[in-house]
Amino acid sequence: MAIRNIRIEDDEILRKKSKEVKEITPRIEILVKDMIETMYHNDGVGLAAVQVGILKRIFVVDIQDDTGVKVFINPEILEKSGEELGPEGCLSLPGERDEVKRATYVKIKAQDIEGKEFILEATELLARAIQHEYDHLDGILFVDYNR
Ligand SMILES: [Zn+2]
Repeated sequence: MAIRNIRIEDDEILRKKSKEVKEITPRIEILVKDMIETMYHNDGVGLAAVQVGILKRIFVVDIQDDTGVKVFINPEILEKSGEELGPEGCLSLPGERDEVKRATYVKIKAQDIEGKEFILEATELLARAIQHEYDHLDGILFVDYNR
């Protein structure tokens, strides 16, 4: 495993759309492990592949509760409801913090590291982290909402 460099600020890759993962190869498995290590190393609660320079639809989230790290490959948000303003930051935008309006509930479908599909319902901080990371796959940054 290795800690990868995080792309920051006006790095153009952060604005690109990530592509679907067609097959979970050993390379993808290593990428995911590295992403988890990189997220922990930087005290983040989430990290998308694009943030380490790989345009694949993958993100990892760990809101530091007791449920551990979650891996989302080819995620799709199925439902959203509620609305709440809350503070956010991003490992790609060091020092920036802002209040962002997000849904308080999301239902998301994705594949895990074994390629198995799962559906997860999330609320509050986990829902917020999922929406933030999901945005990265489409080149959206949290600061965009207040511009
Ligand atoms: Zn971010």
